[in-house]
Amino acid sequence: MSTACPECESPVQPPGDARVSELIECPGCRSELEVIALTPIALALAPDPEEDWGE
Ligand SMILES: [Zn+2]
Repeated sequence: MSTACPECESPVQPPGDARVSELIECPGCRSELEVIALTPIALALAPDPEEDWGE
């Protein structure tokens, strides 16, 4: 069961025990992806933890 990275569309294979809100690193573009749904698997770009969130 794999899906495509929302950023670069590379195939991403989540771990078999993936859970919603788990973070996965895209092997193609190194983006942090968050699991947002399991059946079917869906990924979204996770917020960049190094980004300045502002005040
Ligand atoms: Zn990617």
